[in-house]
Amino acid sequence: MERIPFSVGNEGRQVFWNAETFETFLFLFTAIALLIFAYGIYRRWQLWVALGKPETRLDRLPERVKALLINGLIQVKTFREPYPGIMHGLIFFGFMVLIFGAAFDASEFHIAEPLGWAFLRGTFYLVFSFLMDLFGLAVLIGVLLALYRRYIRRPDGLGYQGKPDNTADDAVVLLLLFGIIMTGFVIEALRIRVTSPSWEVWSFGGWMLAKAFTAIEPEQAKLLHKATWWTHTFLSLGFIAYIPYSRLLHIITTPANHFLVSLKPAGYNEPIRDFETAETFGVGKIEEFTKKQVFDSDACTRCGRCQDGCPAYLSGKPLSPKKLIQDLKTFWLTQAPAAAAARRAVGNAATGAGETGGRGIVFKALDRIDAAVDRMGSGTTAGAASAETALVGGVIDLHELWACTNCLYCTENCSASIEHVPKIIGMRQYKVLTEADFAPELQLTFRNMENNSNPWGIGSHLRADWAKDLGIKTLAEDPAVEYLFYVGCSGSFDDRGKKVSSALAKILKAAGISFGILGTEEGCCGDSALRGGNEYLSQTLVQANIEVMNRYHVKKIITTCPHGYNALKKDYPNFGGEFEVYHHTEIIAELIAAGKITLKKPVEGLFTYHDSCFLGRYNGIYDQPRRILRAVPGLKLTEMERNLAKSFCCGAGGARMWMEEDIGERINNLRTDQAVAAGAGTIAVGCPFCLTMLSDGIKDRKKEETMAALDIAEIVWRAMDLEEAQPVAEACAAPQ
Ligand code: SF4
Ligand code: SF4
Repeated sequence: MERIPFSVGNEGRQVFWNAETFETFLFLFTAIALLIFAYGIYRRWQLWVALGKPETRLDRLPERVKALLINGLIQVKTFREPYPGIMHGLIFFGFMVLIFGAAFDASEFHIAEPLGWAFLRGTFYLVFSFLMDLFGLAVLIGVLLALYRRYIRRPDGLGYQGKPDNTADDAVVLLLLFGIIMTGFVIEALRIRVTSPSWEVWSFGGWMLAKAFTAIEPEQAKLLHKATWWTHTFLSLGFIAYIPYSRLLHIITTPANHFLVSLKPAGYNEPIRDFETAETFGVGKIEEFTKKQVFDSDACTRCGRCQDGCPAYLSGKPLSPKKLIQDLKTFWLTQAPAAAAARRAVGNAATGAGETGGRGIVFKALDRIDAAVDRMGSGTTAGAASAETALVGGVIDLHELWACTNCLYCTENCSASIEHVPKIIGMRQYKVLTEADFAPELQLTFRNMENNSNPWGIGSHLRADWAKDLGIKTLAEDPAVEYLFYVGCSGSFDDRGKKVSSALAKILKAAGISFGILGTEEGCCGDSALRGGNEYLSQTLVQANIEVMNRYHVKKIITTCPHGYNALKKDYPNFGGEFEVYHHTEIIAELIAAGKITLKKPVEGLFTYHDSCFLGRYNGIYDQPRRILRAVPGLKLTEMERNLAKSFCCGAGGARMWMEEDIGERINNLRTDQAVAAGAGTIAVGCPFCLTMLSDGIKDRKKEETMAALDIAEIVWRAMDLEEAQPVAEACAAPQ
């Protein structure tokens, strides 16, 4: 083929220089690599579909494509952590550009040049060369950063309980990447050494490296170039072939998992709908997860972001969301090959042994390869002994299972859109509803909820006593009010919670808001029962409340408790309870903005706001509480190191409020320490559970003399400085 000569003004380079005769072999080896890749994906696909209940996630396609672009392509979640984000970005984007560059080269050689239309010429070629070297260098820096982080810096997230969990595969992948880029630069350098075109300064990486080869004779350089070219080719093709059999598989599974992300509200629980007919409940076997939940675990990159902020892990409990997902994955891999083989056998029987067409031959050949690979004990087949282990109580230790506070840190911060909490709830449901085997203190809590519709077991007839002297009407007395104030169990029975209810009721009255309460007709919201695995009880409580609320034609609800808020908003609609639900911080922020309440009395001191998990991560309410606090005269606001979406749980969510915490440090004490470190005199909260936990933390840390925990409603009522403020002001009188 006649090639267009290169010259100044028509700069370029000969693609396949010194390697033209290798073309046939290159095609052959590429085909082999692609076959190995395709076979690996085929095998993995069989494992993905082998186990689990069906779950379709192909609705709302535009939103799914958006999630794929934002987190799969632009990698927004990955960039939330600067070091690993930049490191991964350099490798990912660098490699993407290099792949496109290689495709450009190939199309120039195989398509453009034969047609006499070479486009990699002149200025375009120079810029192209520069960019290819720049992004090659980016990958190299990314790989070096990754090696440094994994093997020298060794952050805890890349391990478990202080020990690194590196595998040989981690090293192989990084060395492969390093080898591919380095040999790429060496090939370029040797070509420049021999051809010496004046414009190759634009290929700055190879140009600089070429200086190291000036002592080598051109013929030797050509030989060395050929050897390096093959090394580079085998490393690159090996990389492609290795993808389905290594951690590189996340190149496929992680973007797929972003696409398959739950589009339901954060922390949504899919209710059990077959209480009447089902024989078991929850997840006691791996196949009782949905296929998506199983696939989830294969998208995990072991990055450790979930573990880095998990309150259970950081307080020394035997729970790490990363380890939990990895343990599920390992267990799935012990079970899936046999299930896949059984599925294939059924498929073969259904299609008939006599299938002689091309499809039949291909699948029989694949079956034989599968069997051979299984016999070699390689690939994804794990030992059979561990397949006998029980999922709940075996693979997942019970202390691990019950340590979760459902804080949603893991899911919110996972770079692969993995959904940890529904798996944990599913396994808890199995222990509670199928095996009736769970902590005695939780048994008592559930009994109390059954008997008196509150976790303490206080007589339900006392539910509205807190409101006796406040002149608040019940809906039985006045069903025409605009808002139902759903008080919740803490706000009705807990001494501290009652003060918050009282403060909010006074604020609403002062602002002229039309509201009422259900009084003794109100029941527990059901959140703790649901998150503690007792969905049967939760549904009973939910339905009882809905029956009352619908009877009074309730439209709008205010609540001080983020747990009730979340349940009313997300769980109640599943059972016919459709309401507009507001957290009191949303209402108070609006009242201040509208000038319906005035904050005139200074509340001096340094405050910090603790984001409740069920308000922040579950419902995105971060701004309103802070806006309120900033509006209080004299109040200075500081942030704890862990705040907003990375806030640290108080330890009470996920029904942990009602359970002993006898392993490791108390989570509420750790959160109190964080407030102390921020120098705050007062911890402002918007949740009665957080109020209890942080008040206890302050006592445990012996900081009562210098610190207090207050609900935002209490602070606002004090700042309003109305006559009735005195009782609440006393509660707020902690030293600053
Ligand atoms: S929800 Fe919170 S406590 Fe539970 S595993 Fe995730 S980060 Fe840990
Ligand atoms: S679950 Fe998500 S955040 Fe945790 S290690 Fe896996 S990919 Fe990373």
